[in-house]
Amino acid sequence: MRRTPALIIGGGPAGSAAAIMLARGGVAATLVERRTEPHDVVCGGFLGWDTLATLERLKLDIFSLGARPITRLRLVSGRHVLEVGLPRQAAGFSRKSLDAALLSLAGAGGATVRRGFAIRDVDPATRTARLEDGEELTAEGLFLATGKHELRGLARPPDFTREGAVGLRTVLRGGLQGKPLDGCVELHLFDGGYAGLLMQEDGSSNLCLSVTKKRFSRAKSPGALVKALKDEAPLLGERVGHEDERHWQAIAGVPYGWRADDTRDGLFRLGDQAAVISSLAGDGVAIALQSGISAAKAFLRDGPSGAAAYQTAFSRQTKVPLGLADLLRGAAERPLSRPILMRLAAVPGLASWVSRLTRIT
Ligand SMILES: Cc1cc2nc3c(=O)[nH]c(=O)nc-3n(C[C@H](O)[C@H](O)[C@H](O)COP(=O)(O)OP(=O)(O)OC[C@H]3O[C@@H](n4cnc5c(N)ncnc54)[C@H](O)[C@@H]3O)c2cc1C
Repeated sequence: MRRTPALIIGGGPAGSAAAIMLARGGVAATLVERRTEPHDVVCGGFLGWDTLATLERLKLDIFSLGARPITRLRLVSGRHVLEVGLPRQAAGFSRKSLDAALLSLAGAGGATVRRGFAIRDVDPATRTARLEDGEELTAEGLFLATGKHELRGLARPPDFTREGAVGLRTVLRGGLQGKPLDGCVELHLFDGGYAGLLMQEDGSSNLCLSVTKKRFSRAKSPGALVKALKDEAPLLGERVGHEDERHWQAIAGVPYGWRADDTRDGLFRLGDQAAVISSLAGDGVAIALQSGISAAKAFLRDGPSGAAAYQTAFSRQTKVPLGLADLLRGAAERPLSRPILMRLAAVPGLASWVSRLTRIT
């Protein structure tokens, strides 16, 4: 059995942010990521101004890597289109590039990054993690950053994930029909979900959908869902076109609204393991980065005993953005409240004010 001061499980934004900050504080963490290569994940690729500020703090300049500036929000419901300015500049950037850049920053800063190794289970009492090949790692500080994936020994209560949403993602290449997308994040609202579309660094467009389990089960496949939406969301149908062989990534059981209120000594839950905001708000990456930074600071200051105070404070910090994002999602998903939401969004300054409240600062 090997011992390490800090073990981070998962190399998404949350795990990398923790590794970067621990290394800056003089703790050489070990980060274990099960994927061998940089990979895309089900994510809209929208990075709000709070995310950009945090990336700057971590000393990562995504615009030098080709991230696309976004200054406007386009809301689409049926054939009704509404465009409003964002309070501050945001960005469109693929998760493949973002996660790779953050992980390499963590490695360059002094963290030991082990790619292609999956943790099979954890004994929370001893903070011992077992890898697939049987190797064991015991840590003073265990940072759980596995995103939506549950880890044996530390899983969220099943009730929470059972009715969770379904997330889907694909890439649209070539020119899109309809209004230019550059500088814009486009949200198509429909019964039981929404689709988000933006341009990423290579000029392709990232299309992401979040739908209720019920809505997805009726359609049975992503392609069938988009086809079924052609009357409800005709402008989305025009954007997507008629290609049947499109490759989709999917994730089920997304537990929107989940917050971890407490923990045990030495166990720090980060990112989606700490708080899951409705993706409509486009702030999950900000939460992931901020949780990694806060947890690392707590560990550097108080050691393993800093976990409980960190977890409680982080849960409190995310309460309002999560609650408001859930409210917006509920209103956007329902046929009766959606027109009201569109009318409210047209009130000058209101959309901008609400989008500020769903940010984590
Ligand atoms: C449909 C949808 C759209 C979204 N759109 C946006 C958006 O536009 N903007 C935004 O800010 N947020 C968005 N989000 C939210 C955002 O994607 C997440 O909040 C964010 O990815 C959380 O980061 P994380 O580091 O906690 O987890 P993840 O990014 O999921 O990273 C977890 C990592 O852990 C690794 N891992 C898992 N299990 C193990 C294991 N056992 N051993 C080793 N490694 C493991 C995985 O391979 C992965 O690399 C969206 C979410 C959904 C569902």
